[in-house]
Amino acid sequence: MPTPTPATDLPLLPLPTPGTAADPAVLIIYTGGTVGMAVSRTGELVPMQFGRLDRKMPELARLGLRLSLLSWPEPIDSSNVTPQDWLRLAALIGQHYADFDGFVILHGTDTMAYSAAALSYVLEHLGKPVIFTGAQVPVGRSRSDAQRNLITALEIAAARHPRAHTVRVPEVGVFFNDVLIRGTRAKKVESQQFAAFKSENYPPLARAGISLEFSDKSIRLLPAAPLKVHTRLEEKVAVLRLFPGLSQAVVEAILGVEGLRGAVLETYGSGNAPTASWFLRCLQAARARGIHLLNVSQCEEGRVTQGTYETSAQLTDLGVLGGDDITSEAAVTKLMYVLGLGLSEERTRSLLTQDLRGEITQ
Ligand code: ASP
Repeated sequence: MPTPTPATDLPLLPLPTPGTAADPAVLIIYTGGTVGMAVSRTGELVPMQFGRLDRKMPELARLGLRLSLLSWPEPIDSSNVTPQDWLRLAALIGQHYADFDGFVILHGTDTMAYSAAALSYVLEHLGKPVIFTGAQVPVGRSRSDAQRNLITALEIAAARHPRAHTVRVPEVGVFFNDVLIRGTRAKKVESQQFAAFKSENYPPLARAGISLEFSDKSIRLLPAAPLKVHTRLEEKVAVLRLFPGLSQAVVEAILGVEGLRGAVLETYGSGNAPTASWFLRCLQAARARGIHLLNVSQCEEGRVTQGTYETSAQLTDLGVLGGDDITSEAAVTKLMYVLGLGLSEERTRSLLTQDLRGEITQ
């Protein structure tokens, strides 16, 4: 069942920054994550309401921006994020799109790459920046990375080309530590250090050192079109990660889920999988039930090229689709998005192999 459209009646809180009407307007949407966490009575980090974010970060007032804040009524650890949250974020951006120059989403790091990819898909023809950021250490703690991440994310969300004054990053991005990564290319690679995100197969869209350097040739510029906010994501998808010793019972259990519509097959190397007849029969049965299978490599760098080895050639014959250099995070959310469109088999298969939001290098 595709996800129903969520409510978007959240109160908008203008932050009292001394901006003038000529300054760029940025909407911060706070969903939770370590950035806003505090230690509970039992000693764990739990998400908290920000209240007046400007009191926690007085430096926001010096940015020359007009800022507003929307907060999740119950901030979450991002391990609890759902497709419902993604649709709500997309709907909020759609609702406030005309009033802001850019958007910054404060989000936990654990699933930020999934959320950024999902938003990339459901916000079609995006023409303004939607920048995800967060922190590894909560705001207010000594050595927190929240200030620098949020401040640079806000600068990116407000950035314009110096001469043409057009939007600099009309994309969903993840800004963390010192890099801006395309939303469909991000991967969380680090849980202890500040450099938490990486893109293995596509260069960063910007780097923040002493100055903020944009890599204009890496940023997608599409012909202007009205934003289309999609409202359906198909949740009946699965990930089947291969490992030596994976049993038939497990494969059957995953691919046999009632109503399953699609699965990401996390294969070895350049897209290779066992040639055991029971395994191929399981895939064939899944395809016969109309389940779309997208082949993604477990390697972080490189790409799936079905047919290079005997161990991947049969996947093509069975109708498994090669995912090129897509990340697993982008593949799962792409399946949810494309299957949520309710298109014909042929059109669905065609979209699944196309580059829709810069997620694959063609
Ligand atoms: N568990 C946290 C979350 O994803 C981790 C973080 O924000 O860094 O919400």
